[in-house]
Amino acid sequence: MFYLKLNQKQDPQGEIPELSRNPILPIMELTTSPFPVDDSELLVWGTLYPETDSEVRREQSPEKKIPMISRDEDGCMIWHFDPEKVCEGILLESYHDGLQHTMELRLPFNYSRVPNWVKRIARTLRMRGIKAPSAIPFPAMETPLALDWLHELCFLQRGKGVSRYPGRDLNWPRQTRAAVVVTHDVDNNWIFENPQWLAQFLDIEEEYGFQGAWYVVPRNSRSKAANRGIEMLRSRGCEIGCHGYNHDAKWPLLPEKQSKKRIEEVCRFRDHWGIRGFRSEWLWRTPAFLKMLSKIFQYDTSVPTVSELFTSVSFNGCGSFFPFRTHGGLMELPLTLPMDEARHQMGLSPEIFWRQQKILADAIIDRGGLVTISLHPQPHQAANDTTLGPFREFLQEINRHSGLWKAPPWKVAERTASQLPDSSGRRS
Ligand SMILES: [Zn+2]
Repeated sequence: MFYLKLNQKQDPQGEIPELSRNPILPIMELTTSPFPVDDSELLVWGTLYPETDSEVRREQSPEKKIPMISRDEDGCMIWHFDPEKVCEGILLESYHDGLQHTMELRLPFNYSRVPNWVKRIARTLRMRGIKAPSAIPFPAMETPLALDWLHELCFLQRGKGVSRYPGRDLNWPRQTRAAVVVTHDVDNNWIFENPQWLAQFLDIEEEYGFQGAWYVVPRNSRSKAANRGIEMLRSRGCEIGCHGYNHDAKWPLLPEKQSKKRIEEVCRFRDHWGIRGFRSEWLWRTPAFLKMLSKIFQYDTSVPTVSELFTSVSFNGCGSFFPFRTHGGLMELPLTLPMDEARHQMGLSPEIFWRQQKILADAIIDRGGLVTISLHPQPHQAANDTTLGPFREFLQEINRHSGLWKAPPWKVAERTASQLPDSSGRRS
Protein backbone atom coordinates (compact mmCIF):
# COMPACT_ATOMS: atom_id res chain seq x y z
CA MET A 1 0.00 0.00 0.00
CA PHE A 2 1.35 3.42 -0.96
CA TYR A 3 0.14 6.50 0.83
CA LEU A 4 1.00 9.35 -1.47
CA LYS A 5 0.68 13.05 -1.11
CA LEU A 6 -0.57 14.29 -4.46
CA ASN A 7 0.58 17.28 -6.47
CA GLN A 8 -0.60 18.66 -9.76
CA LYS A 9 0.86 20.86 -12.45
CA GLN A 10 -1.45 22.97 -14.52
CA ASP A 11 -2.52 20.99 -17.55
CA PRO A 12 -1.97 23.07 -20.70
CA GLN A 13 -4.93 21.33 -22.33
CA GLY A 14 -7.10 22.05 -19.29
CA GLU A 15 -8.61 18.57 -19.20
CA ILE A 16 -7.58 17.40 -15.76
CA PRO A 17 -9.85 18.62 -12.95
CA GLU A 18 -7.91 20.63 -10.44
CA LEU A 19 -7.05 19.35 -7.03
CA SER A 20 -8.22 21.98 -4.61
CA ARG A 21 -5.73 20.80 -1.99
CA ASN A 22 -2.89 18.31 -1.92
CA PRO A 23 -4.57 15.28 -0.41
CA ILE A 24 -2.98 12.12 0.98
CA LEU A 25 -4.45 9.07 -0.73
CA PRO A 26 -3.82 5.35 -0.50
CA ILE A 27 -2.88 4.19 -3.96
CA MET A 28 -3.76 0.65 -4.92
CA GLU A 29 -1.98 -1.13 -7.75
CA LEU A 30 0.17 1.67 -8.98
CA THR A 31 1.32 0.92 -12.52
CA THR A 32 4.91 1.99 -12.77
CA SER A 33 5.91 3.45 -16.06
CA PRO A 34 8.08 1.21 -18.29
CA PHE A 35 10.12 4.29 -19.19
CA PRO A 36 11.29 6.85 -16.71
CA VAL A 37 8.93 9.81 -16.88
CA ASP A 38 10.57 13.15 -17.36
CA ASP A 39 9.58 15.87 -14.92
CA SER A 40 8.30 18.02 -17.75
CA GLU A 41 5.84 15.29 -18.80
CA LEU A 42 4.29 14.91 -15.35
CA LEU A 43 0.82 16.34 -14.78
CA VAL A 44 -0.09 14.66 -11.51
CA TRP A 45 2.40 12.94 -9.27
CA GLY A 46 2.66 11.72 -5.72
CA THR A 47 5.38 11.73 -3.13
CA LEU A 48 5.41 9.09 -0.45
CA TYR A 49 3.85 10.37 2.65
CA PRO A 50 6.83 10.83 5.02
CA GLU A 51 5.37 9.13 8.08
CA THR A 52 4.67 5.86 6.30
CA ASP A 53 6.96 3.02 7.29
CA SER A 54 6.17 0.97 4.22
CA GLU A 55 8.96 -0.97 2.54
CA VAL A 56 8.76 1.32 -0.45
CA ARG A 57 9.94 4.19 1.62
CA ARG A 58 13.10 2.36 2.50
CA GLU A 59 13.82 1.76 -1.17
CA GLN A 60 12.96 5.18 -2.51
CA SER A 61 13.63 8.59 -1.23
CA PRO A 62 10.48 10.33 -0.01
CA GLU A 63 11.14 13.19 -2.40
CA LYS A 64 11.00 10.96 -5.48
CA LYS A 65 8.07 11.87 -7.66
CA ILE A 66 5.81 8.94 -8.44
CA PRO A 67 3.97 9.48 -11.72
CA MET A 68 0.17 9.35 -11.63
CA ILE A 69 -0.79 11.09 -14.88
CA SER A 70 1.62 12.26 -17.55
CA ARG A 71 1.56 13.20 -21.22
CA ASP A 72 3.76 11.68 -23.89
CA GLU A 73 5.52 13.77 -26.51
CA ASP A 74 2.44 13.65 -28.74
CA GLY A 75 0.33 15.11 -25.95
CA CYS A 76 -1.50 11.84 -25.24
CA MET A 77 -2.45 11.29 -21.63
CA ILE A 78 -0.79 8.34 -19.86
CA TRP A 79 -2.43 6.92 -16.77
CA HIS A 80 -0.17 5.34 -14.17
CA PHE A 81 -3.00 4.42 -11.82
CA ASP A 82 -6.67 3.52 -11.93
CA PRO A 83 -8.79 6.30 -10.36
CA GLU A 84 -11.82 4.01 -9.98
CA LYS A 85 -9.78 1.41 -8.07
CA VAL A 86 -8.45 4.04 -5.71
CA CYS A 87 -11.94 5.45 -5.15
CA GLU A 88 -13.33 1.97 -4.50
CA GLY A 89 -10.44 1.11 -2.21
CA ILE A 90 -11.25 4.16 -0.10
CA LEU A 91 -15.03 3.61 -0.03
CA LEU A 92 -14.63 -0.09 0.80
CA GLU A 93 -11.78 0.61 3.24
CA SER A 94 -9.32 -1.82 1.70
CA TYR A 95 -6.53 0.59 2.67
CA HIS A 96 -6.41 -0.60 6.30
CA ASP A 97 -5.88 -4.06 7.79
CA GLY A 98 -9.26 -4.30 9.45
CA LEU A 99 -10.48 -3.04 12.77
CA GLN A 100 -8.54 -4.06 15.87
CA HIS A 101 -10.29 -5.75 18.78
CA THR A 102 -10.51 -3.73 21.94
CA MET A 103 -10.33 -4.97 25.51
CA GLU A 104 -14.14 -4.89 25.83
CA LEU A 105 -14.59 -7.25 22.89
CA ARG A 106 -12.43 -9.86 24.60
CA LEU A 107 -14.46 -9.92 27.79
CA PRO A 108 -16.27 -13.22 28.40
CA PHE A 109 -19.51 -11.34 29.17
CA ASN A 110 -21.53 -8.66 27.39
CA TYR A 111 -19.88 -5.33 28.19
CA SER A 112 -23.08 -3.44 27.45
CA ARG A 113 -24.81 -4.97 30.44
CA VAL A 114 -22.58 -3.23 32.96
CA PRO A 115 -24.20 -0.15 34.53
CA ASN A 116 -23.71 3.23 32.87
CA TRP A 117 -21.65 4.56 35.80
CA VAL A 118 -19.16 1.68 35.40
CA LYS A 119 -18.90 2.41 31.68
CA ARG A 120 -18.19 6.04 32.49
CA ILE A 121 -15.28 5.07 34.77
CA ALA A 122 -14.03 2.48 32.25
CA ARG A 123 -14.07 5.13 29.54
CA THR A 124 -12.00 7.50 31.68
CA LEU A 125 -9.46 4.74 32.34
CA ARG A 126 -9.34 3.75 28.69
CA MET A 127 -8.81 7.37 27.60
CA ARG A 128 -5.69 7.54 29.80
CA GLY A 129 -4.03 4.73 27.95
CA ILE A 130 -5.25 5.73 24.50
CA LYS A 131 -2.69 5.15 21.79
CA ALA A 132 -0.90 7.90 19.95
CA PRO A 133 -2.69 9.29 16.90
CA SER A 134 -2.41 7.33 13.65
CA ALA A 135 0.77 7.94 11.68
CA ILE A 136 -1.11 8.73 8.48
CA PRO A 137 -3.89 11.29 8.72
CA PHE A 138 -6.07 9.53 6.18
CA PRO A 139 -8.97 9.70 5.66
CA ALA A 140 -9.44 13.26 6.78
CA MET A 141 -12.42 15.51 6.50
CA GLU A 142 -11.06 16.80 3.20
CA THR A 143 -11.02 13.34 1.65
CA PRO A 144 -14.47 13.80 0.09
CA LEU A 145 -12.94 16.48 -2.14
CA ALA A 146 -10.39 13.91 -3.29
CA LEU A 147 -13.11 11.32 -3.94
CA ASP A 148 -14.91 13.81 -6.14
CA TRP A 149 -11.66 14.51 -7.96
CA LEU A 150 -11.17 10.77 -8.60
CA HIS A 151 -14.78 10.56 -9.79
CA GLU A 152 -14.11 13.37 -12.26
CA LEU A 153 -10.91 11.65 -13.43
CA CYS A 154 -12.98 8.57 -14.23
CA PHE A 155 -15.18 10.69 -16.51
CA LEU A 156 -12.06 11.95 -18.23
CA GLN A 157 -10.52 8.50 -18.56
CA ARG A 158 -13.55 6.52 -19.77
CA GLY A 159 -16.56 8.81 -19.95
CA LYS A 160 -18.32 7.62 -16.79
CA GLY A 161 -17.87 8.07 -13.07
CA VAL A 162 -17.21 5.56 -10.30
CA SER A 163 -20.09 3.10 -10.40
CA ARG A 164 -20.72 2.75 -6.67
CA TYR A 165 -20.33 6.46 -5.87
CA PRO A 166 -22.77 9.16 -7.04
CA GLY A 167 -20.61 12.28 -6.56
CA ARG A 168 -21.87 15.19 -8.64
CA ASP A 169 -24.52 13.03 -10.30
CA LEU A 170 -26.65 12.61 -7.17
CA ASN A 171 -30.02 14.32 -7.34
CA TRP A 172 -31.89 15.08 -4.15
CA PRO A 173 -35.67 15.40 -4.61
CA ARG A 174 -37.71 18.52 -5.29
CA GLN A 175 -34.78 20.83 -5.99
CA THR A 176 -33.29 20.30 -2.53
CA ARG A 177 -29.52 20.59 -2.44
CA ALA A 178 -28.50 18.43 0.53
CA ALA A 179 -30.04 15.87 2.88
CA VAL A 180 -30.08 15.72 6.68
CA VAL A 181 -31.00 12.71 8.82
CA VAL A 182 -31.19 12.43 12.61
CA THR A 183 -30.37 9.00 14.01
CA HIS A 184 -30.32 7.48 17.50
CA ASP A 185 -28.54 4.39 18.81
CA VAL A 186 -30.75 2.92 21.52
CA ASP A 187 -28.15 0.77 23.24
CA ASN A 188 -30.39 -0.26 26.14
CA ASN A 189 -33.88 0.17 27.55
CA TRP A 190 -33.21 3.36 29.48
CA ILE A 191 -34.96 5.76 27.11
CA PHE A 192 -38.03 3.50 26.96
CA GLU A 193 -38.19 3.32 30.75
CA ASN A 194 -37.97 7.10 30.87
CA PRO A 195 -40.60 8.14 28.31
CA GLN A 196 -40.47 11.78 29.42
CA TRP A 197 -36.93 11.90 27.97
CA LEU A 198 -38.04 10.15 24.81
CA ALA A 199 -40.72 12.83 24.41
CA GLN A 200 -38.10 15.55 24.91
CA PHE A 201 -35.97 14.24 22.04
CA LEU A 202 -39.02 13.94 19.81
CA ASP A 203 -40.31 17.42 20.69
CA ILE A 204 -36.97 19.08 19.92
CA GLU A 205 -36.50 17.24 16.64
CA GLU A 206 -40.08 17.77 15.49
CA GLU A 207 -39.82 21.47 16.29
CA TYR A 208 -37.22 21.73 13.51
CA GLY A 209 -38.98 19.41 11.11
CA PHE A 210 -37.07 16.17 11.73
CA GLN A 211 -38.48 12.70 12.12
CA GLY A 212 -35.53 10.63 13.17
CA ALA A 213 -34.51 7.01 12.93
CA TRP A 214 -34.17 4.98 16.12
CA TYR A 215 -31.86 1.96 15.84
CA VAL A 216 -32.88 -0.43 18.60
CA VAL A 217 -31.08 -3.55 19.85
CA PRO A 218 -33.36 -6.58 19.27
CA ARG A 219 -32.34 -8.44 22.43
CA ASN A 220 -32.60 -5.32 24.60
CA SER A 221 -35.99 -4.24 23.27
CA ARG A 222 -38.35 -6.99 24.31
CA SER A 223 -39.87 -5.46 27.46
CA LYS A 224 -43.32 -3.91 27.66
CA ALA A 225 -41.67 -0.49 28.10
CA ALA A 226 -39.64 -1.02 24.90
CA ASN A 227 -42.76 -2.07 22.97
CA ARG A 228 -44.61 1.01 24.20
CA GLY A 229 -41.63 3.20 23.31
CA ILE A 230 -41.29 1.78 19.79
CA GLU A 231 -45.05 2.17 19.21
CA MET A 232 -44.77 5.77 20.35
CA LEU A 233 -41.91 6.39 17.94
CA ARG A 234 -43.90 4.90 15.09
CA SER A 235 -46.99 6.92 15.96
CA ARG A 236 -44.88 10.07 15.67
CA GLY A 237 -43.61 9.11 12.22
CA CYS A 238 -40.12 7.94 13.19
CA GLU A 239 -38.24 5.17 11.46
CA ILE A 240 -37.30 2.09 13.48
CA GLY A 241 -33.96 0.53 12.61
CA CYS A 242 -31.92 -2.38 13.91
CA HIS A 243 -28.84 -1.78 16.10
CA GLY A 244 -27.02 -5.11 16.03
CA TYR A 245 -28.25 -7.98 18.15
CA ASN A 246 -27.46 -7.69 21.89
CA HIS A 247 -24.83 -4.95 21.91
CA ASP A 248 -21.92 -7.17 22.86
CA ALA A 249 -20.30 -5.92 19.62
CA LYS A 250 -19.17 -9.45 18.75
CA TRP A 251 -21.54 -10.36 15.92
CA PRO A 252 -19.29 -9.46 12.94
CA LEU A 253 -16.54 -11.66 14.39
CA LEU A 254 -18.57 -14.76 15.24
CA PRO A 255 -18.21 -18.15 13.51
CA GLU A 256 -20.94 -18.95 10.98
CA LYS A 257 -23.09 -21.14 13.22
CA GLN A 258 -23.40 -18.56 15.99
CA SER A 259 -23.91 -15.79 13.48
CA LYS A 260 -26.73 -17.73 11.82
CA LYS A 261 -28.67 -17.85 15.07
CA ARG A 262 -28.41 -14.08 15.37
CA ILE A 263 -29.45 -13.60 11.75
CA GLU A 264 -32.63 -15.61 12.31
CA GLU A 265 -33.59 -13.71 15.42
CA VAL A 266 -32.77 -10.33 13.87
CA CYS A 267 -34.86 -11.18 10.80
CA ARG A 268 -37.87 -11.96 13.01
CA PHE A 269 -37.38 -8.63 14.78
CA ARG A 270 -37.01 -6.86 11.42
CA ASP A 271 -40.26 -8.36 10.13
CA HIS A 272 -42.16 -7.57 13.32
CA TRP A 273 -41.33 -3.83 13.19
CA GLY A 274 -40.98 -3.36 9.43
CA ILE A 275 -37.28 -2.45 9.72
CA ARG A 276 -35.25 -1.51 6.65
CA GLY A 277 -31.94 -0.25 8.00
CA PHE A 278 -29.08 -1.43 10.19
CA ARG A 279 -26.41 0.16 12.34
CA SER A 280 -23.76 -2.07 13.78
CA GLU A 281 -22.86 -2.11 17.46
CA TRP A 282 -19.76 0.06 17.97
CA LEU A 283 -19.89 0.61 14.18
CA TRP A 284 -18.03 -2.69 13.97
CA ARG A 285 -17.94 -3.97 10.38
CA THR A 286 -16.02 -6.30 8.10
CA PRO A 287 -16.46 -6.83 4.34
CA ALA A 288 -18.09 -10.23 4.99
CA PHE A 289 -20.46 -8.79 7.57
CA LEU A 290 -21.62 -6.01 5.23
CA LYS A 291 -22.11 -8.56 2.50
CA MET A 292 -24.28 -10.64 4.82
CA LEU A 293 -26.29 -7.54 5.77
CA SER A 294 -26.94 -6.84 2.08
CA LYS A 295 -29.12 -9.96 2.04
CA ILE A 296 -31.32 -8.90 4.95
CA PHE A 297 -31.45 -5.09 5.01
CA GLN A 298 -32.13 -2.34 2.52
CA TYR A 299 -29.30 -0.19 3.83
CA ASP A 300 -26.54 0.05 6.41
CA THR A 301 -25.35 3.10 8.30
CA SER A 302 -22.31 1.88 10.24
CA VAL A 303 -19.41 3.36 8.27
CA PRO A 304 -18.05 6.71 9.42
CA THR A 305 -16.64 9.21 6.96
CA VAL A 306 -13.54 9.21 9.15
CA SER A 307 -12.87 7.71 12.57
CA GLU A 308 -9.77 7.51 14.74
CA LEU A 309 -10.98 4.44 16.62
CA PHE A 310 -9.94 0.81 16.09
CA THR A 311 -7.13 1.26 13.50
CA SER A 312 -3.46 2.08 13.88
CA VAL A 313 -1.45 3.10 10.79
CA SER A 314 -4.18 5.20 9.21
CA PHE A 315 -7.64 6.17 10.46
CA ASN A 316 -10.65 4.28 9.12
CA GLY A 317 -13.79 5.26 7.23
CA CYS A 318 -15.16 5.62 3.72
CA GLY A 319 -14.10 9.25 3.27
CA SER A 320 -17.44 10.10 1.67
CA PHE A 321 -20.18 12.64 2.35
CA PHE A 322 -22.46 10.83 -0.10
CA PRO A 323 -24.31 7.51 0.22
CA PHE A 324 -22.73 4.80 -1.92
CA ARG A 325 -22.88 1.08 -2.56
CA THR A 326 -20.65 -0.91 -0.24
CA HIS A 327 -19.87 -4.64 -0.08
CA GLY A 328 -22.60 -6.85 -1.53
CA GLY A 329 -24.14 -3.86 -3.30
CA LEU A 330 -25.64 -2.74 0.02
CA MET A 331 -26.54 0.96 0.22
CA GLU A 332 -24.34 2.66 2.79
CA LEU A 333 -25.37 5.93 4.45
CA PRO A 334 -22.10 7.10 6.00
CA LEU A 335 -21.91 8.72 9.41
CA THR A 336 -20.72 12.03 8.04
CA LEU A 337 -20.65 13.83 11.41
CA PRO A 338 -18.82 12.42 14.45
CA MET A 339 -21.27 10.68 16.81
CA ASP A 340 -22.21 12.47 20.06
CA GLU A 341 -20.04 9.94 21.90
CA ALA A 342 -16.94 11.23 20.06
CA ARG A 343 -16.90 14.40 22.13
CA HIS A 344 -15.49 12.41 25.06
CA GLN A 345 -12.50 11.27 22.98
CA MET A 346 -12.13 14.81 21.68
CA GLY A 347 -12.29 16.20 25.22
CA LEU A 348 -14.83 18.86 24.22
CA SER A 349 -17.71 20.40 26.14
CA PRO A 350 -21.16 19.87 24.56
CA GLU A 351 -21.28 23.57 23.53
CA ILE A 352 -17.99 23.46 21.62
CA PHE A 353 -18.66 20.01 20.20
CA TRP A 354 -22.03 21.01 18.72
CA ARG A 355 -20.59 24.27 17.41
CA GLN A 356 -17.94 22.25 15.57
CA GLN A 357 -20.62 19.89 14.28
CA LYS A 358 -22.40 22.92 12.83
CA ILE A 359 -19.29 24.05 10.91
CA LEU A 360 -18.87 20.59 9.47
CA ALA A 361 -22.57 20.25 8.63
CA ASP A 362 -22.43 23.59 6.80
CA ALA A 363 -19.54 22.31 4.68
CA ILE A 364 -21.41 19.10 3.83
CA ILE A 365 -24.55 21.03 2.92
CA ASP A 366 -22.53 23.37 0.69
CA ARG A 367 -21.20 20.33 -1.15
CA GLY A 368 -24.65 18.78 -1.56
CA GLY A 369 -23.96 15.77 0.65
CA LEU A 370 -25.74 13.92 3.41
CA VAL A 371 -25.53 15.20 6.99
CA THR A 372 -25.91 12.25 9.39
CA ILE A 373 -26.53 13.33 12.96
CA SER A 374 -26.27 10.57 15.55
CA LEU A 375 -27.12 10.55 19.22
CA HIS A 376 -27.15 8.05 22.08
CA PRO A 377 -30.26 8.72 24.18
CA GLN A 378 -28.76 7.71 27.50
CA PRO A 379 -27.96 9.89 30.53
CA HIS A 380 -24.16 9.66 30.25
CA GLN A 381 -24.33 10.54 26.55
CA ALA A 382 -27.09 12.76 25.04
CA ALA A 383 -30.01 12.42 27.47
CA ASN A 384 -29.03 15.28 29.75
CA ASP A 385 -29.77 18.99 29.77
CA THR A 386 -26.15 20.03 29.15
CA THR A 387 -26.22 18.18 25.80
CA LEU A 388 -29.81 18.73 24.69
CA GLY A 389 -29.46 22.53 24.97
CA PRO A 390 -26.51 22.82 22.52
CA PHE A 391 -28.05 20.10 20.33
CA ARG A 392 -31.25 22.11 20.04
CA GLU A 393 -29.24 25.22 19.05
CA PHE A 394 -27.42 23.13 16.47
CA LEU A 395 -30.71 22.01 14.88
CA GLN A 396 -31.96 25.58 14.92
CA GLU A 397 -28.83 26.76 13.09
CA ILE A 398 -28.96 23.93 10.55
CA ASN A 399 -32.58 24.77 9.91
CA ARG A 400 -31.59 28.21 8.61
CA HIS A 401 -30.25 26.59 5.43
CA SER A 402 -32.70 26.59 2.56
CA GLY A 403 -33.13 23.60 0.28
CA LEU A 404 -32.62 20.84 2.84
CA TRP A 405 -34.22 17.44 2.43
CA LYS A 406 -35.08 16.31 5.95
CA ALA A 407 -35.92 12.69 5.51
CA PRO A 408 -35.83 9.37 7.33
CA PRO A 409 -32.71 7.41 6.35
CA TRP A 410 -34.65 4.68 4.51
CA LYS A 411 -35.92 7.27 2.06
CA VAL A 412 -32.40 8.61 1.51
CA ALA A 413 -31.22 5.04 0.87
CA GLU A 414 -34.07 4.39 -1.55
CA ARG A 415 -33.47 7.66 -3.39
CA THR A 416 -29.75 7.02 -3.80
CA ALA A 417 -30.17 3.36 -4.73
CA SER A 418 -32.45 4.37 -7.60
CA GLN A 419 -29.54 6.36 -9.04
CA LEU A 420 -26.76 3.83 -8.51
CA PRO A 421 -27.29 0.55 -10.35
CA ASP A 422 -25.69 -2.32 -8.44
CA SER A 423 -23.40 -4.85 -10.07
CA SER A 424 -26.34 -6.70 -11.55
CA GLY A 425 -27.70 -3.48 -13.05
CA ARG A 426 -30.62 -3.32 -10.61
CA ARG A 427 -31.61 0.12 -9.41
CA SER A 428 -33.29 -0.72 -6.14
ZN1 LIG B 1 -24.55 1.23 20.28
